[in-house]
Amino acid sequence: MNTRISSSAFVESVIEAIKSVIGDSPQSLHEPRFIGKEKEYLLDCISTGVVSSIGSYVDSFEQELVEFTGAKHAIAVVNGTAALHISLLLAGVQAGDEVLIPSLTFVATANAVSYCGGVAHFVDSEESTLGIDVSKLRKYLEENTRIHKEALINKKTNARIRAIVPMHCFGHPSDIQGLIELATDFKLILVEDAAESLGSTYLGRHTGTFGLTGAISFNGNKIITTGGGGAVLTDDDEIAKRGRHISKTARIPHKLNFIHDEIGYNYRMPNINAALGLAQIEGIETEIKNKRSLAANYREVFKQIEGLKFLDESRKSRSNYWLQTIILSEQLAFLRDEILLETNAVGISTRPAWNLISELKPYRTNPSMELSGSKNLVKRILNLPSSAKLGEFLSHE
Ligand SMILES: *Cc1c(COP(=O)(O)O)cnc(C)c1O
Repeated sequence: MNTRISSSAFVESVIEAIKSVIGDSPQSLHEPRFIGKEKEYLLDCISTGVVSSIGSYVDSFEQELVEFTGAKHAIAVVNGTAALHISLLLAGVQAGDEVLIPSLTFVATANAVSYCGGVAHFVDSEESTLGIDVSKLRKYLEENTRIHKEALINKKTNARIRAIVPMHCFGHPSDIQGLIELATDFKLILVEDAAESLGSTYLGRHTGTFGLTGAISFNGNKIITTGGGGAVLTDDDEIAKRGRHISKTARIPHKLNFIHDEIGYNYRMPNINAALGLAQIEGIETEIKNKRSLAANYREVFKQIEGLKFLDESRKSRSNYWLQTIILSEQLAFLRDEILLETNAVGISTRPAWNLISELKPYRTNPSMELSGSKNLVKRILNLPSSAKLGEFLSHE
């Protein structure tokens, strides 16, 4: 067969498959929905004038987060990146410390390490969850590190490797059990980048509640939004107390005086954002239900196409399917850009994964393990229109 004809037939079949699930009209990658009490709560903030950094919506939103995730504490902050920054400070990351993070993630994971004066040390990812390849990392650490007085030391740089930050990619939980064992064996503090995985569970427990802390994002493109926002989850009372303190400029509560006992951050979530968040979290179960039904529809149509696979949740996980993903076979990776261009040309928003962070200018010279897994994967990933409303499309026909 002529490869050019068969290639275009493949691209065409992918587009047809997507359309059979979402219909013919233009669709964005993810659209936030405001179908609950958003207006009511926002108007309440405006009419009472309580819009800023203190207010009852912040407390209510945090309480809902605690109930929804099962974490003991939730600290609402200004965005997911701030939640990661606070998390790493709580993990004790200091200037010169290295922190293991996947190269296949959003740049915020690496930036948060840099904000602490730390050094992002890149690790490889695997295909079944798009998360950290734990067995490969274990081998790498066995060969390249040593443990000295309860601290993991990078033999090459002599720096302490303080923590590991797995990221639950597009909502799919990573191999959390493997990561917990690895963190224990190598004296690493586990911090989860759960920015994308609110509503996803692993063995029935919520992502973001397995490590010392977990960071959530409520950016406009995430499963629920506060406009901009984030949260730190933790089960540890002392960590929660300190997290709150440093995200509120480290001010000692006092009737009159402004006394700050360390360099803190102005990271508290404003009341008006929390009002939006409260209305959003009240509807999150519906959003997840719709995302999962959209996933079921995509799974069905992509079963019929050879040369790609739909990314499914792993056996131990329940995913929020925040972004729906297909992965092309290695042979067909060369068609990724054509699929991206042709779908976007007809208004169907598709998107590649991020460029590997290890290849970005600020991070090119950082320590890294061999990254063949992520390099191979990143060329083959495509994200599809994933809005929750699309999960209702077929049932409305
Ligand atoms: C969205 C996101 C963040 C950061 O969240 P913001 O709220 O945009 O600061 C961090 N990590 C990952 C993987 C994300 O997708």
